[in-house]
Amino acid sequence: MSNPVILTGIRANNDLHIGNYLGALLPLIDLARHYAGEYEINLFVPDLHSFTTPIDHGTLQEGIETNLKLYVAAGLPLDNPAVYLYRQSQVPAHSELTWILDCFTGVGEMQRMTQFKEKTAQLSSDRVSVGLFHYPVLMAADILLYRASYVPVGEDQTQHLEFARDIAERMNKRFNKELFTIPKAVAEQHRFFGKDQGLRIKDLVDPTKKMSKSSVSDKGTLFLTDTPDVARSKIMSATTDSLNSVRYDKDKQPGVSNLLDLMALLRGQSVLELAHAYEGQTQYGPLKHDVADTVSGFLQEFQNTLAQVDMDAVRAKLEHSEKIMNERANSVLHVVQQAVGLR
Ligand code: ATP
Ligand code: MG
Repeated sequence: MSNPVILTGIRANNDLHIGNYLGALLPLIDLARHYAGEYEINLFVPDLHSFTTPIDHGTLQEGIETNLKLYVAAGLPLDNPAVYLYRQSQVPAHSELTWILDCFTGVGEMQRMTQFKEKTAQLSSDRVSVGLFHYPVLMAADILLYRASYVPVGEDQTQHLEFARDIAERMNKRFNKELFTIPKAVAEQHRFFGKDQGLRIKDLVDPTKKMSKSSVSDKGTLFLTDTPDVARSKIMSATTDSLNSVRYDKDKQPGVSNLLDLMALLRGQSVLELAHAYEGQTQYGPLKHDVADTVSGFLQEFQNTLAQVDMDAVRAKLEHSEKIMNERANSVLHVVQQAVGLR
């Protein structure tokens, strides 16, 4: 028996922010470091997913490269043989399996997806692509082609994971054969991945909502590509409150708590200990200064590392991984093709 597969991809571009880094990138790297050996880690760039909504296609290649570099700069161990790094579109089986699964998926099932409803609410109907509509089917193919057991999913993705389980079970039953491995249920995913799934860095201007790539204003978002000075000024203008005391209380003091969270996570310190160090302070200036120092120091170091990422090493890893991923995906695809009568 081969090791269970953990699979994940982050749709990324230059606009990744510090929330994505702390909430998605870092936990992923942690997994790769600690679990490789017991598990296989499939980390892929979901490039086919990147234009379900309109994008500038002239910058897609660059975005893919940046995405890969971010993984490495965040600490992905390229030399670990249990870690596979690949681009989705370089494994054509994703597209082929998607088509087959499409033909066993009900239109109603896709129409019920809340993410589809939410995203389409923001677009005029002629901009809503069929790709956006059946994107969960492609996501199911991404997972099922590698017999993945664990897929870290945030709240916005749980429905899609449920769909991947449903379609896998449906196909297995329909053809009376174990075509697919059923990924673990959402509750089990949460148990496996633990606390990191719930982490949400908040917007600096409105700390009641989470930091997002797609926020209307840039002021509340700390991008990984912000210069240290820009980051500093965003932090110095962060919204706090008028309670004049530094306490870690997410309900009563969301702005202050968010700043403490940021600093604690970047320093690898316990947030309660950190808050304790500010006890008795009645002004927020010193806290903001410390947070700004920590964040700008982090950005400087991260951007240096990013600039030094060896793309040749990344390309070698891609080439090796993509060869193996094609073999694995094609063997799963072949069994499905046989089942549906194509082979
Ligand atoms: P968008 O506004 O386009 O939805 P986003 O900032 O919400 O962008 P996603 O692409 O939806 O980012 O998510 C990428 C990953 O980052 C996901 O794993 C998600 O859980 C994580 N993530 C997103 N925002 C935060 C945040 N504020 N704090 C921690 N993790 C986050
Ligand atoms: Mg989001």
